[in-house]
Amino acid sequence: MLTFTEEHEMFRTTVRDVVRNEIDPHCDEWEHTGDFPAHQLFKRLGDLGLIGVEYDAEMGGGAADHVYTMILGEEMGRCASLGVAMAFAVQTDMATPSLHEFGSPELKEQFLRPAIAGDMVTSVAVSEPDAGSDVAALRTRAVRDGDEWVINGSKMWITNGTQADWLCLLCRTSDEGGYRGMSQIVVPTSTPGFTVSRKLDKLGMRASDTAELVFEDVRVPVANTIGEIGRGFQQQMSQFQNERMIASYQMVGAIELALERTAAYLQERQAFGAPLAANQYLQYELADVAADLDMLRHHNWAAVAKYQRGEDMTREATVAKLKAARIARRMADLAVQFHGGMGYVEENWPARFFRDTRLWSIGGGADEVMLRTLARMNGILPG
Ligand SMILES: Cc1cc2nc3c(=O)[nH]c(=O)nc-3n(C[C@H](O)[C@H](O)[C@H](O)COP(=O)(O)OP(=O)(O)OC[C@H]3O[C@@H](n4cnc5c(N)ncnc54)[C@H](O)[C@@H]3O)c2cc1C
Repeated sequence: MLTFTEEHEMFRTTVRDVVRNEIDPHCDEWEHTGDFPAHQLFKRLGDLGLIGVEYDAEMGGGAADHVYTMILGEEMGRCASLGVAMAFAVQTDMATPSLHEFGSPELKEQFLRPAIAGDMVTSVAVSEPDAGSDVAALRTRAVRDGDEWVINGSKMWITNGTQADWLCLLCRTSDEGGYRGMSQIVVPTSTPGFTVSRKLDKLGMRASDTAELVFEDVRVPVANTIGEIGRGFQQQMSQFQNERMIASYQMVGAIELALERTAAYLQERQAFGAPLAANQYLQYELADVAADLDMLRHHNWAAVAKYQRGEDMTREATVAKLKAARIARRMADLAVQFHGGMGYVEENWPARFFRDTRLWSIGGGADEVMLRTLARMNGILPG
């Protein structure tokens, strides 16, 4: 059981208020335009101390405990656009953890400090057209030329990709195959040879820009390498744990709000001479999601406790990501179904929620990749 202090609850209120008052009112417009003003929004959130809540105070971070990250995730998950919530999570928990943990002081000063302040927007660039689930298949390559890396290749599906100031790039830096010989490199997007080749038109998460990126003889200092040369894959695997947990934290908030809203709708909507909520079938379906949500929340708490003890939490993050996505998808399906036609039109929240939640069984490692990891951990998969 986690202990929540008064400060934790005050933090929750701060995030809930900013989401409700400063983000939600713009979400319809951003969904329509297909992006949101990341620099403007992240600056505001940075000013409120919502970026880097656990990062070192001397870098401008909050030096807070991981419970704050969980609360931040849960409250962002209540945002009217899960695309905005995801894009923000890229900044806080997907593109910056490696730099914080493994980066040199100079690199952090140049790139982490402004990211925490919200002055720079970040992306994590791992996936490629031919390497998504199979990260070891990636081909983008950095070749050393004196004190510089010369980078060639392309990246696909990159969140914040049209707006980012720098990327946490995972690429090959030696001829060793498979999981070896990769490094994480900070690539400023102002570097000559970098281009955004395409902005992708997606089913959901529509307020979040997703891009294909091309690197043609992009030169960056070798000093931009995060951590050890050749350890990029291992560092990225660690960064993925943060990514998977923040997804699960967000889904707790998202499912909770969807449950509340669907229950309220069923109380109001009359059919067959009574509120729809009078149907036991509808009650029980929602009660079942509520039970799943309790289990997910408690699983997250156990993961937080393990994280705070500094223990490996690969298993917890894998289970959390898998289950969070699946429960969210079930909730989304019920929300649409129980709203009837009202759930199928753009003017009501279930339609967007249905599209947005679908992503989490694919992005950040597909369900099957989570299952593969668990199968291996349980001795079901050889090797
Ligand atoms: C909106 C969006 C945002 C994204 N943001 C980012 C980002 O910011 N940075 C980034 O690097 N990437 C990002 N991604 C990429 C995302 O992580 C990948 O899409 C994901 O890892 C799956 O890779 P893929 O799309 O290439 O699918 P593939 O690898 O081609 O897999 C297709 C499907 O095959 C199945 N499958 C795959 N492997 C196995 C297996 N071993 N066993 C059984 N079934 C399997 C799964 O059902 C999977 O969905 C984003 C994707 C989307 C759609």
